[in-house]
Amino acid sequence: MDIQALRAFEDNYIWLLREGRCVVAVDPGDDSPVLRYLADENASLAAILLTHHHGDHTGGVAGLIARHPAPVYGPANEPIASITVPLREGDTVIPPGFKENFRVLEVPGHTRGHIAYYGHGALFCGDTLFGCGCGRLFEGTAEQMWASLSKLAALPPDTKVFCAHEYTQSNIRFALAVEPGNVTLQERAGRVAQLRASEQATVPCTLAEECETNPFLRCAEAEVAASAARHCGTRLAGPNEVFAALREWKNSFR
Ligand code: ZN
Ligand code: FE
Repeated sequence: MDIQALRAFEDNYIWLLREGRCVVAVDPGDDSPVLRYLADENASLAAILLTHHHGDHTGGVAGLIARHPAPVYGPANEPIASITVPLREGDTVIPPGFKENFRVLEVPGHTRGHIAYYGHGALFCGDTLFGCGCGRLFEGTAEQMWASLSKLAALPPDTKVFCAHEYTQSNIRFALAVEPGNVTLQERAGRVAQLRASEQATVPCTLAEECETNPFLRCAEAEVAASAARHCGTRLAGPNEVFAALREWKNSFR
């Protein structure tokens, strides 16, 4: 199986898993790049995997299945009419034609029923975890999102994180405001700036790198907690409150 990215809209990635001529599309917000790929490669659509209901992740489903009928896997607890295989925590997905299986993790926070897929050392996490950042809290609570991010952070450190957006560089600006003294983060900032200067992707990243540089995974670290408390001017009791304060801070960060 190999994995490649198709770019969509401003900064979305549609991840394609490929085994021979079988292709799985993860979060196809737009059908046109996927249809073009399938035609160019003379490949067939084996399945669609969805993480959550937002249009930039689901908008291409109808157009794809009209031309390439295929099962649509997705979260049981989200309003997505096109899903044919609803999924919950602990379910396993084996796309038709593939040997690999993917485990379903419920990661509420960005939306109420958001799920992620983990398998073969790869994590498809939609809008939950981004390079050096995390998704906004549109439907869930800070407690839910912190628990979801902690669940992802507990996966093996060499897990490759396939985020759905190219947000790393702007996220790093915020991360540096939180942890100006984090040397690993400073090094990452340099690498990411170089990649973006030539419009190259900064994802997938590794979970180990995220755990060392992503402030939203580091709410239990003293420097992150102190920085968040200083910014909001109150005492923060524990990582839940640190996470909530960081997320608020990031929302207004320019
Ligand atoms: Zn979203
Ligand atoms: Fe999105």
